[in-house]
Amino acid sequence: MSYFVPQLVYVDKKALEYRLGRELRKRLEDRGIEVVLYEDRIPAVYRKTFREGFLAAKKVMVVSVWRQREFQTCRPSAHYQLPLVSGCPGHCEYCYLNTNLGRRPYVRVYVNVDDVLHRAREYVRGREPEKTVFEGAATSDPIVVEYWTGSLRRAVEYFAALEGAGFRFVTKFTNVDGLLAIDHRGKTEIRFSINSPKIITEYEKGVPRLKSRLEAAGKCARAGYPLGFLIAPIFAFEGWRDQYGRMLRQVREHMPEKIPVFFELITHRFTARSKKIIRDAYPESGVPLEETDRSFKYGQFGYGKYVYPGEVMEELKEFFVTEIKALFPEAKILYFV
Ligand code: SF4
Repeated sequence: MSYFVPQLVYVDKKALEYRLGRELRKRLEDRGIEVVLYEDRIPAVYRKTFREGFLAAKKVMVVSVWRQREFQTCRPSAHYQLPLVSGCPGHCEYCYLNTNLGRRPYVRVYVNVDDVLHRAREYVRGREPEKTVFEGAATSDPIVVEYWTGSLRRAVEYFAALEGAGFRFVTKFTNVDGLLAIDHRGKTEIRFSINSPKIITEYEKGVPRLKSRLEAAGKCARAGYPLGFLIAPIFAFEGWRDQYGRMLRQVREHMPEKIPVFFELITHRFTARSKKIIRDAYPESGVPLEETDRSFKYGQFGYGKYVYPGEVMEELKEFFVTEIKALFPEAKILYFV
């Protein structure tokens, strides 16, 4: 999938007051996609079981208006989330969105992009002289709907011209061509989320394979974007050193020499709630979710999560730091958690 083709689209009648809303309706209908208008509440996607409802809702796009006044914070990745899109049609079985969005995992796009960007400017002005960074992928993979909305492009252009602001987003999708010619002035960081081919094959369904992601990353690097790799979630499976070592060498092969890259490293963790949702949504999934193999840790929001035990974390950290330094001597590792 290079971009999302929904089976059904719900359009908020208020969204038709905006040019993007009207254009989207027309383009979707011209493609023969069923478009249903709604008022106030997004219609629920009911099916007999949670799994059926979940899978059906993943094929739905909602075109709506951003109405909140405030942005959510987004530590440690950025200061604030930029609300352009939420949801993702991909089927990564471990995905944090499965827990966040639960029964409403449809892909929701906002048409009043100017309102969102103007609100972002107010946050920037309020924090001057400190720089303010916005994350475009906190609750979505925004590249997958860029074909329809062009919102990322507008955000990249907007932040390029806005003093005191930075923008970043992460993706597994490869539809980046529309971003390459933008005068981004180095103010947007693009990260590609990658994993070992074994993990991609087993747990990441409906998203591009490693080679395609690396080719897209190479294009972004050559277009001058500050570029990073989010290796997440890292699993300590049998043969992980060999597999992750090969993955890092593939990254090296696809990156132009002398272009600095950075890495963010996140080990796999799960909560009791995420385990239940994964089991319900993907009953065949082999994502490791055994509490007895993990250590229990209280998270920043007060609920507990199951992480790898300390000695496994140390081994993983040492491996990734050593390999990355050897292959990318200039690279920064922003964090390992
Ligand atoms: S691509 Fe990212 S946001 Fe989409 S399902 Fe996979 S992990 Fe979730």
